[in-house]
Amino acid sequence: MNPSGPPDRALFDQRGCLTPAGFAALARAPIGRGPAELAAHLASCARCQERMLAIGAGPRPAPSSVPRRKPRLWLYVVLAGAALILALAALILVTKLGGASGAPPRPPARSGEMNSPPRAAGGS
Ligand SMILES: [Zn+2]
Repeated sequence: MNPSGPPDRALFDQRGCLTPAGFAALARAPIGRGPAELAAHLASCARCQERMLAIGAGPRPAPSSVPRRKPRLWLYVVLAGAALILALAALILVTKLGGASGAPPRPPARSGEMNSPPRAAGGS
C-alpha cells in the first residue's frame, strides 16, 4: 500500500505555511529533533512564528503549572545584607574622605580662646 502523498503535506496549508497540525507536530517533537521542513519554514516565516506564539505551542513544552524550584529566599536575604553592608561602607568611606580633605577634624577648642578668626582669607 502506497500513500498518495507524503504526510508532511498535511502540515502545510495552501500558502505553504504551517497548519495547526504542523504546529502540533512541532510542539510534540523533542527539542532539536522536530521535522526539518517545519523547522526550516518556521525559522524563515515571521507569520508562522507569530502564529505559534499566539497559539502558545512552542517547540519547547514548558510545564507552566509545576514550578521547578522553590524561590531562593536566602539568596535575597544575602543580597540585601550585602547591599546594606556596601551602602554602610560607602557612607563611612565618604564621611572619612570628606572630613579628611574638606575640613580636618579639630579638637574642640576651649571657649576662652578664640578659634581661628577669619583674617585675610585669600583675598585674591
Ligand atoms: Zn509560514
